Parts: sequence; structure tokens; C-alpha cells
Amino acid sequence: MAKVWSSNLGYPRIGEQREWKKALEQFWNGKMTEEELLQQTKAVRLEGLKKQKERGIDLIPVGDFSLYDQVLDTSVMFGVIPKRFQALDSLTALETYFAIARGVQDAVASEMTKWFNTNYHYIVPEFHESRPSLVENRPLVFYKEAKNELGIEGKPVILGPITFIKLGKGYEEEEFPQLVEEFLPLYIEVLQELKEAGVKWVQLDEPSFSTALSEADIVQAKKVYETIAAEVPGINIMIQTYFESISSYKDIVNLPVAAIGLDFVHGDSLELLRCHGFPKNKFLAAGIIDGRNIWRRDLNDAFGLLETIAQIVGKDRIIVQPSSSLLHVPVTTKREDTLDPVVKGALAFADEKLDEVAILAKGLSSGKGSIKAEIADSVKAIAALNESKHRKQTAVQAVIAELNVERKLPFDERIVLQKEKLQLPVLPTTTIGSLPQTAEVRKQRLKWRKGEITDQEYEQYIKDEMKKWIAIQEHIGLDVLVHGEFERTDMVEYFGEKLNGFFVTKFGWVQSYGSRCVKPPIIFGNVSFEQPITVKESVYAQSLTKKKVKGMLTGPVTILNWSFVRDDISRFDVLDQIAAALRSEIEALEENGIAIIQVDEPALREGLPLKENKWKEYLDRAVRAFRIATASVENSTQIHTHMCYSDFEDIFDAISALDADVISIETSRSHGELISAFEKNTYNQEIGLGVYDIHSPRVPDIEEIKENVNRALKIIPFKQFWINPDCGLKTRQEPETIAALKNMVQAAKEIRQAQLAAQTN
Ligand code: GLN
Ligand code: ZN
Repeated sequence: MAKVWSSNLGYPRIGEQREWKKALEQFWNGKMTEEELLQQTKAVRLEGLKKQKERGIDLIPVGDFSLYDQVLDTSVMFGVIPKRFQALDSLTALETYFAIARGVQDAVASEMTKWFNTNYHYIVPEFHESRPSLVENRPLVFYKEAKNELGIEGKPVILGPITFIKLGKGYEEEEFPQLVEEFLPLYIEVLQELKEAGVKWVQLDEPSFSTALSEADIVQAKKVYETIAAEVPGINIMIQTYFESISSYKDIVNLPVAAIGLDFVHGDSLELLRCHGFPKNKFLAAGIIDGRNIWRRDLNDAFGLLETIAQIVGKDRIIVQPSSSLLHVPVTTKREDTLDPVVKGALAFADEKLDEVAILAKGLSSGKGSIKAEIADSVKAIAALNESKHRKQTAVQAVIAELNVERKLPFDERIVLQKEKLQLPVLPTTTIGSLPQTAEVRKQRLKWRKGEITDQEYEQYIKDEMKKWIAIQEHIGLDVLVHGEFERTDMVEYFGEKLNGFFVTKFGWVQSYGSRCVKPPIIFGNVSFEQPITVKESVYAQSLTKKKVKGMLTGPVTILNWSFVRDDISRFDVLDQIAAALRSEIEALEENGIAIIQVDEPALREGLPLKENKWKEYLDRAVRAFRIATASVENSTQIHTHMCYSDFEDIFDAISALDADVISIETSRSHGELISAFEKNTYNQEIGLGVYDIHSPRVPDIEEIKENVNRALKIIPFKQFWINPDCGLKTRQEPETIAALKNMVQAAKEIRQAQLAAQTN
């Protein structure tokens, strides 16, 4: 009997205790040499490979590792380097790589955007300024390393040409075939060299096959994979798709490759398989274990699914794997020793998921009986959580359904009352909420967590920090101030720690962008409000100044999308529970005299389903949840929201339907592309377009900010416009933040004066 293979698509790169992140940041801060960085990150990488081997994974990915982002790796591998970085010839190759991602004083960073419907961000390739060529065969380097160091016959992972080109910018749609023409020979060169080195399997990631493909795209996909088959015969290509079932199923599964990877967790791959079958001559790599969530899988159920697939495809042509790269889940549950055992028993992070994959592959090879104990164990653990007090169903949903979701007056009338109350100048300046979380802030928090300082000492420290920054903000001359979010580690985790139904892990980190990792809380039971969360800090900050301090909280959609969510009830029901809990928080802020309350929804866009026919339900429920949270305030209380992205067009109506009084959004990295959305649609509420990029330490000068503002003011009326940075400032250092904000305020002053002069003339 042939053995059924297990496979993995990608492994977390950050290390069990974020060793990777720490090394990168030391390097960036000049505290580590390039050699040390490469040494330390190699250790993390080999550790991950070793663990996959120990777990019995047959096809272990290599080259999935990155020092920043796999899309940027692909760009750099093919010499796709924007001109402004080519000119920086004093930099080493690695410094140039980081410069593209993070920006340097002389060159702004490339745009960064979300990877499909995840909270992972990639660096957008800029295709118009360079002639591609193969600079380094990266997958080959990693293949050799795994082989030499650990005897692992790895499966190189490469971002496939169709998806790579689609993710980039700097070309018109009709130029797509031309770009394919340019890159295809380079891919062939890479594959040829891999083949010569003895590589058997290569995974080409094509997640864009899970989004809607045009006829022209399919023509190009056929061309690419037919050419590869003809030019590099004998190497086994696995086209890997994930996050949804594929569009154009028949065309894609019939491409001339050795295997197709499909996601059997999200979307309707099983339906497609049932309707259209699967070609006889290839392997189906079945993504059975959820690569996006942290719950243990009911192995009885999973095995049933696998058997169904096997009946259609044939057992000897199945490969068992997670539904996507495990980049999106934390590394291991093994250090989570403070968790309720019932909850912990139902968790599976990357390592535990690979165990599940290996068990299922074994079951399919040797029969269900061979994995009987493991099946029983998983069923028992999941039942224990479902039957626990955390998940007992009460009447929560019915109560929520009764809540009003309309503000008392329409926007046009409320805004008059708000203006009267707030007395702000035109083009009010503000920030997005967080101020620099310096090493000192983090150190104090750590001391407090470890019990080295008392609650009072910690609270006093936070208060002092707020006081210092209220003074700084007043001195800079900002109009609407913030308390700075010094008490928060992370905008979702902080709320997770304070609401019922959540727990926060110790090491459950996942990469968000670059070295930045987030620790999504886990929603395991019913969510409800326990006691005020943000009131104390907001009230204290407000007591220090006559200017208005914005209350600041994370919105329901973002809390949902950036948490790992229980999967025993509908996500939308969980969403409503969060919204109702936040409504109590917002009411408490208002009762305590906070006149402006910002409810951040940076994750609203990324939660948009990949398939368009699911958009309406998602957007309706997202809007409803935002309104559940915010609709009960007085007319004169101003609700702000913030979103960090630029691809706004698809959700324009929903954003307007949130009925927030002011919205701030990120734009500076997309260089004004967003503004076109406002040319085509009318937006009545007030709006702040980010006027400088906060993802980079670079300080923007006054002229540059003025240019950004003036460009926006060509489309958005003066009286509706706010001036703010792109996003929160927590990742920045103090001096650069103060310098940048001073320039921003000065830019606002100069534009106001110019406008005034224009009006009086
Ligand atoms: N208020 C948050 C902050 O400033 C918003 C962050 C975000 O949108 N990602 O950090
Ligand atoms: Zn933001």
C-alpha cells in the first residue's frame, strides 16, 4: 500500500519566542551586525525545519522563510527594485532590501498592503522602473541549506508568476501579458536550476486563483504553466491555492502540473470537486487543517472529509496538508501554561496542526483504526469546551437584536451641534491615537507584569507619560489631543484582556508586517462587558487640558477580525456580542465627559470575503455592528473612526453607512490613488486623509505635507477636511514623532492662511 504523504505550505518565521523579531530590531538599531543577524535567523529557520521533520511531514517547505516579506523576497530575487533605491549605492544588498520595506531618509518605502483577507502585509512590487533579471536563486539557496544542514529534501516555495505580477503595480491591465513574458523565462531559469540540484517538488503559490479571474488571466495562467511543463519537464510542480475555493475550477485544475493544492476549510472546494471531478493524472493536495484558526480539529470529522475526497480522487493521489501557510497562526501551544486546561486542550497552533496533518495522513494510509486513539482524544477535548460554562447559550443574541442602530439625528444636523460644542478651527489637526511606545514604556509594563513594580507604580508611570505627552501635544499645537494608548500593548489584545469571553495567550504571536507581530486574543466563550476599559485614562488625560481629548477604542469588526474566533457559533453572532459590549464602554466614556470618541476599524476591509457574492452579508453585518456600538450617543458627541488602507472603492457605501461623523484613513503610501474614489462618489461626513507615512522613521518636510493636503483639497471640500498622520505612532521614536507632527501642524497653519488669503482676495 502506497503511503499517503503529508505536506506543509509554510511555517511561522518568527520563532517560538519571537527570536526573529528581536534579532531584526537589534540589527536595525545598530546593535547587531549583518553576520549576527543572518546567524541568529538561520538558527530560527533550522529549528522550524527540524520540528517539521520530527512531526513526520513528508513535503517540508523551504524558502518560505523571510527576513521581512515573501513578496519583497520575490521582487528582490528578480531585481525588481524601484529606481529611488537603485540610486542608494552605499547600501549593502540587505540594507537595500530593508530600505524598500521601511524607507530611508532619501527614499520613501514601497507601499505595503494586506495579503488577501489576512492581517499579514506585503510590500507591493513596483514593476515600471526596472528590467527584471534573476539576481539570486533564493529557493535554491534554502533547498541546499536544508539538505546540507538537516538532510531534509525540501520542497522549495515560490510565489507563482500570475499572483506575483497581479500583486504588483506600475502597469496597465493590458500590459499584464507583457510582464508575464518578461518574468516567465526567469521562473524557468529558477526551476531549471532547482531541477539540476535534484529538487523533486516545487510549490508555486497562486492564491490569486482563489479570487475572480478574467478570461485574459486564464489565458496567461495556461501559457505560464504550459511553458513550464514544456521547458522544465520532470520537476513536479504543485500549484498552491488557499483562503478560498478557486474560481475557474476546471481551467485551473487542468493546468499541466503534478499537483493542485486546494483549501477544503474555506469556500466550497468539496462541492466543486463533486460537480467537476478531478483530473486523473495529478495529485490533489487537500488543505484539511485550518491554517487560519487555532482550534484543534475534530479528527473524526476531518477524516470523514478526507475519505470523501479520496473516494472521488483516489486515495493514492492525495496529499494531506493545512489549508494555507501556517504563517498565520502562532508556533506552539506548549508554553501556554496559564490557560484553563479545558481551553488549552482544544487549541492547536502550527506545531500541533502539523501533528494533526501527520495523523490524518497516517489514517488514510493505514486505515482509520490506526488513528483511533487520536480521533477519540480530539473529539473529547472539543466536547469538553463546548459543554463548559463559557459557551452555555443564554439569551444574549435576542437582547442584542433589540438595540437601536440609528443616531438620534442625521449627520447634517448633528454636525452643527458638534461644531458648536467643539469649537475647532478649520482643517483641525489630530493624531490617530497611539504615541511612541518607547523601550521605557515596554520595560515598565514588563516589570509590572512580573510583579517587580506595584499596580500603583505602574499606573503612576502611565499617568506621567500621558501628562508629558498632553504637554507635548499642546506645545506642538495640535487641535484634538489623544491620551496616547501607553497602557495598551496592542489595540485588540488590550480589549481582549478586559472583556468576558476572551483570553490572551503568552506566546501566541503572529507576524503582521515586517518585524511587527500581534498576539490575537482568543474568543472562546460568550463576549460581554464587565467594567469600563478605557474610561480612567481618557478622563485623566482630559483633566489635564482645555483642548478636547479623543476617547479611543477598537471597533467590533476589528476585534473580531484580529482575534481567533470560536468556531461553534456564527462569526456574526460573535461580532454582535462584541459590539454590544463596546456600546456600554462608549456610553461610559460619554457619561464621563468625553466629547469625541474614536472607534478604530482598521480591519474592516481585510475581512471582506474573497468571493464577491459574500460581500453584502459581511458588509451589512459589519455596518450593523459598528452602529450597535456607536448609535446610542448624544448628537453632540462626535464619533470618529479610523481605517488603515487605501483600497477604498469596494466598500465606499459601507463606510458611509457606518454613519461616523469623522473618518481618518491612510493614504500617503498609495500616493493619492485613493482620492479617485472620492471623485466618483460623494461622501458627506468629515474626513482626514493621512498626510504622512508613519511606517517609516523618516520625517516628512512641511512642503511635502502641504502637497499631500492640497492634492486632497482639490477633491474634498475644505470644511470637511481634517489633517492627521496615516496611522498610530506607537512604533515610532519620540524625536522623529515630534518633528513630524510639528511639520504637520505648521503645514496646516500655512494652508489655512493661504485659504484665508484666497477668500479675502
Ligand atoms: N488608535 C490606534 C493607534 O493609533 C489605531 C491603530 C490602527 O488603526 N491600526 O494605534
Ligand atoms: Zn491605522
